[in-house]
Amino acid sequence: MIDFEIPAELAAERDRVRQFVIDRIVPFERDPRLTQHGPTDELRQELVELARAENLLTVQAPVELGGRGLTHAEQAVLYEAAGWSTLGPVAMNCAAPDEGNMYLLSKIANPRQVDQFLAPVIAGHQRSVFAMTEPDGAGSDPAQLCTEATFDGENFVLNGRKWLITGANGAKTWIIMARLAPNPHLPEGPTLFLTEGGTPGIVIERTMNTMDRNYVAGHGVVRFENLTLPREALLGAAGQALRYAQLRLAPARLTHCMRWLGAAERAQSIAVAHAKTRTAFGKPIGEHQGVSFLLADNEIALHQCRLTIWHACWLMDRGEKARHESSIAKAFVSEELFKVADRCVQVLGGIGISDETVVEMIFRDMRAFRLYDGPTEVHKYAIGRKILR
Ligand SMILES: Cc1cc2nc3c(=O)[nH]c(=O)nc-3n(C[C@H](O)[C@H](O)[C@H](O)COP(=O)(O)OP(=O)(O)OC[C@H]3O[C@@H](n4cnc5c(N)ncnc54)[C@H](O)[C@@H]3O)c2cc1C
Repeated sequence: MIDFEIPAELAAERDRVRQFVIDRIVPFERDPRLTQHGPTDELRQELVELARAENLLTVQAPVELGGRGLTHAEQAVLYEAAGWSTLGPVAMNCAAPDEGNMYLLSKIANPRQVDQFLAPVIAGHQRSVFAMTEPDGAGSDPAQLCTEATFDGENFVLNGRKWLITGANGAKTWIIMARLAPNPHLPEGPTLFLTEGGTPGIVIERTMNTMDRNYVAGHGVVRFENLTLPREALLGAAGQALRYAQLRLAPARLTHCMRWLGAAERAQSIAVAHAKTRTAFGKPIGEHQGVSFLLADNEIALHQCRLTIWHACWLMDRGEKARHESSIAKAFVSEELFKVADRCVQVLGGIGISDETVVEMIFRDMRAFRLYDGPTEVHKYAIGRKILR
């Protein structure tokens, strides 16, 4: 039996989240601490305290770690509400990359690692990074991983260079992917390591100047220079990093869809309001069919995106991996929502490209969504391979 009804309690919580974001978080969208490199950590902490006071912090965390243990479908409803402002998920501690990192750590970290590296992130006290992408190695194809780890039975020594590492500057929980070289002690191959930011050997070269500014501390270029880690720094089993990355990616790419759906709805609401009041050729522009069709296309896209997300969530809540369906969702939703944002810019006319409204920021921030957690082409490549198999 398929049921699209949102339970009354969840609907009430969704409305509470949306109102919290509108009343308490939206005013920070013009805060100077929302910089070209994203919100500063100081701003993040201020927002986190607002969410904490409303009991809206890290609601997705497992119950045993202080959260509500939301299902994927429940997350879809609440994250969409949080996404009304790009700062909403930051406040509620359900933004990337922390949200996906918390999910992964809750699945594979051992109890000591949970206490040291996960609990402070869940509490909103520190941030985390997932360092995989490399200028000359891992990207769309993570198997190209170049960063190497050697192991002498006691210590790992990591060397390599990464970029586009979100939140690198100032993050304290670091998940690093490196290729474990052949050794007599552990299986070789892509492996995850867990360590503290600031460990000698982690060199943050710079923060990149990018189009988007919704991720705390932006995106870093990082070098590992003889980064020496003890055996206990191993996260999960050696040689299993690509499997763990998949474990993280299927839900993480869906949560991006959920949050951006909320942002696209916001853009649509601004465009609709504009279309009702701005006049041209003797009537409100919304009464010109050309404009109403743009807004109708948006409404259709938003609805389709929501259903696609919910379906993948439904599968995952039944215990399925839903890799194929989450790939379909990521490819479809990221392309469609970007078109929604673009049409909103168009409806707004010249002010659409200015910061008179938040639509311009949503449009720029959303562009990157088509690239991370698998660019559209890579998802289509995977979908194509599956159907042609
Ligand atoms: C805002 C943002 C935040 C990010 N944060 C992180 C982070 O925190 N940690 C991290 O490790 N990485 C992060 N990334 C990196 C992201 O994971 C990569 O950008 C992504 O995996 C693509 O890799 P690439 O950039 O190297 O592109 P490439 O792999 O070089 O791809 C370039 C182009 O080739 C296309 N292509 C590749 N394979 C195929 C194929 N089989 N068929 C058709 N076309 C193909 C791609 O679609 C793309 O258009 C982030 C990226 C962005 C934009």
